[in-house]
Amino acid sequence: MYACKAESSGGGRCRNSAGTDGFCSSHSGKKVKVAGKPDKVLVKANINPNWTRRFIELGIRVVTPDFARHEAEHVAHAQEHGRGAFTVRKNIADSGVPVFGKEGVTVGVSVVALIDELSKSYKIVDVHIFQKPADPSRGQKGVMSTLVVSFAKEGEAIMPNTVLEFYAMSKWDFVHVWANPPKEDGTVIHTVNLAHRADAQAEHELRFADGLWAVESC
Ligand SMILES: [Zn+2]
Repeated sequence: MYACKAESSGGGRCRNSAGTDGFCSSHSGKKVKVAGKPDKVLVKANINPNWTRRFIELGIRVVTPDFARHEAEHVAHAQEHGRGAFTVRKNIADSGVPVFGKEGVTVGVSVVALIDELSKSYKIVDVHIFQKPADPSRGQKGVMSTLVVSFAKEGEAIMPNTVLEFYAMSKWDFVHVWANPPKEDGTVIHTVNLAHRADAQAEHELRFADGLWAVESC
């Protein structure tokens, strides 16, 4: 399932499921504005303790924000946009639209083409590891580490070669893309969540498609 490609009234992306033409029943066949490109794209990948150690050894910094405060901000942001923060994911607050539906993409994708595509209009401006305590109710143990790569139009570019090599040898069996509504300052951020990594050749690739997102065969 894909989310409708139309822009929502708040300047985000329409939350409804799309039909075969890419639009929901209320936007289909009408002259509508298609959702635009984000200002920033955050690519977040769950990484195992081995990869975490390797990246830390290479000097990538670890961030451990106050998770509760972060969640509270998410809830407030969702409410501003008249959306229930918990309507899509029960335990995690979110104000965005899941572009590939509630289940996400589970066909095994590469993000190499995506990174190439993003590099044409954005720069990698930051790479860090986000760590938070595991959620035992989801079968997790210890500390969960996420590699966060930030693509932005503004800012100084960095060239994290090791990170690019890591993506070149990774296939992701679980992918979620969130198209978030504009923040108070108008900034639109899209988030790519990657999980269930394998050292394997993918048969599909995630594409940016000017911020509309798609999964294609390689
Ligand atoms: Zn729609």
